[in-house]
Amino acid sequence: MREVAERLERARRVAIFSHVDPDGDAAGSALGLAHVLRDSGRDARVFLPGGAPDLYRFLPGADGVEADPDGVPADRDLLVVVDATSPSRLAGLEGALGSGPPVVNVDHHGDNTRFGAAHWVDPGACATALMVYEWARAAGLSVSPAAATCLYAGIVTDTGRFTFSNTDARCLAAAAALAALGASPHEIAVSVYDRASPASVRLLAAVLSTLDLRAGGRIASVHVTRAMLEETGARAEDSDGFSTYPRSIDGVQVGLFFRETEEGAVKVSFRSNGGVRIDGVAGRFQGGGHPSASGARVPGPLSTAKEAVVRAVEEHLRGSDG
Ligand code: AMP
Repeated sequence: MREVAERLERARRVAIFSHVDPDGDAAGSALGLAHVLRDSGRDARVFLPGGAPDLYRFLPGADGVEADPDGVPADRDLLVVVDATSPSRLAGLEGALGSGPPVVNVDHHGDNTRFGAAHWVDPGACATALMVYEWARAAGLSVSPAAATCLYAGIVTDTGRFTFSNTDARCLAAAAALAALGASPHEIAVSVYDRASPASVRLLAAVLSTLDLRAGGRIASVHVTRAMLEETGARAEDSDGFSTYPRSIDGVQVGLFFRETEEGAVKVSFRSNGGVRIDGVAGRFQGGGHPSASGARVPGPLSTAKEAVVRAVEEHLRGSDG
């Protein structure tokens, strides 16, 4: 953490980037960091591929999020990349790297490529937002209610509401501290989890009806197609939390969620139970992530992608059986 902390300490005009398909931790850690930097007299701008996702527009500061710059604005003296395993995860923003100011890489993914002039990678942290909180405390910087709200949102979403295997005493202690600093667990939970549109619930019904069990019930998958989005009127991001359903079935070791993207590729979410590591299988498809929650983008069509991934997971389970 030390070199990253020193660079943050020296910085005056910071640009903050995070990954494509920004989730709660991408948005929460980026915005939380921006608040802490601004409150300590720095200028901070946040860039997310595609802008702030609708689901996270309730976060303080989300209105100011910028999308896809041509480059890092010339007046910035530091670029902080949060929650992204590699520059390739920055989509349109990747091209902005390299020509601008030094890059500092802050992430909790173990498979982070350690890019940048300085990196701070902590796979033991449940969320990148937790790392931002711990850095702020260690640096003696104040964490406002706005910052606490963003950082808590990153933690609660990346731990699946404090249920995934990354939930531990360290993360719960930080969540409690952030609540004491002004984050409202109830209001954040309502904003993230209780604002479903009728279309998104219809989409869930359609997606659950695609349930497919393989390998004697050890692999479960569901999928969402572009046609299902059109029929229900739902948006792609409405399916963001659906990856938890296949894994929630008793006896399932690997849950898979396939989503047809606009570009014709297939986004795959891998979720595992019971000590099965799934990040290596995601890696075989040029993806990655955490041991029990990983992702990849696989060429379409959906049926081909699904068969290839299910076969790879079957092989992996056979291998783990020894
Ligand atoms: P998701 O299935 O999109 O919720 O992602 C689960 C985890 O895997 C997250 O920590 C992501 O950052 C990571 N991940 C998702 N897609 C990719 C990808 N294409 N490459 C590397 N990591 C990914």
